[in-house]
Amino acid sequence: MQTVGRFAPSPSGRIHLGNILCCLLAWLSARQKGGRVVLRIEDLDTARCPRRYAGRMEEDLRWLGLDWDEGPAVGGPDGPYYQSERTALYQAALEKLEQRGMVYPCFCTRAELHAASAPHREDGQVVYAGTCRRLTAEQAAERARRTGRAPALRLRVPEEEWAFTDGHMGPYRENLARDCGDFLLRRSDGMFAYQLAVVVDDAAMGVTEVVRGADLLDSTPRQLYLYDLLGLEPPHFIHFPLLLAPDGRRLSKRDADAGLDTLRDRATAAEILGKLAYLAGFNPSGAPRAAEELLTDFAWDKVPTADIRIPEGLF
Ligand code: GLU
Repeated sequence: MQTVGRFAPSPSGRIHLGNILCCLLAWLSARQKGGRVVLRIEDLDTARCPRRYAGRMEEDLRWLGLDWDEGPAVGGPDGPYYQSERTALYQAALEKLEQRGMVYPCFCTRAELHAASAPHREDGQVVYAGTCRRLTAEQAAERARRTGRAPALRLRVPEEEWAFTDGHMGPYRENLARDCGDFLLRRSDGMFAYQLAVVVDDAAMGVTEVVRGADLLDSTPRQLYLYDLLGLEPPHFIHFPLLLAPDGRRLSKRDADAGLDTLRDRATAAEILGKLAYLAGFNPSGAPRAAEELLTDFAWDKVPTADIRIPEGLF
């Protein structure tokens, strides 16, 4: 079976070194096996991800020499390639889950969620206490009338361990009820949740290999559960360590030095890729390298599993 990898950026700003490393690894991992690459723009949050950022991101990826076979401009059999244009598919999946009685409306406000005595996850998210889980249809209708707003929709999760072996990080497991709780499928403003959209899209686009940062490792059991409920074949998951700013903080779109808007003025694509490949363990000299030139030396077992701190002044 041919490998199908993907780039799935959320264009809420200019592409930064963390996104570039993600795309580089996804590209190398798929291309080295003679695979295809799909570009999907994860712009569910249209207010944060305006179209002009997506266009800029595509242009930046092309400048870096990371190409794709299917995507917004080139087209392909599984489009549209903007999540904001795929809501009918998410709605269909939601209805499938609703028919199985797995979905319930949640009227909790953000303040109520945080006030609940439920434990907090490491990422600051609250494990949902299940407040609205047992509302009867009448109680739910009464809440809807009283609050005057549409509810969010949550998926019931079982008191069950979901385990998988990550292609880079090794075995990982989570008890969905204890570590996560019933999670959101659709927000009260109608926006579909990342967890549902990513599963529907990766399956619909025939993605066989998902390469992404380790910050999404703990989303994977939730996604595997959704694959199972929807009767879809899950891809192979490969998570890589996070890139940290020189002071040890997580790299974000606010780190101007790491953004391609300033980097492009002072470095070539080959310099950027060569240094990222050096940090990721497969270009020991750190010399400039075009993406194709890295294909021979790239191997997952050279990539570290601990977070990678960018040395001061490297870029
Ligand atoms: N759109 C997500 C991001 O940019 C990636 C989601 C994924 O790879 O599953 O962080």
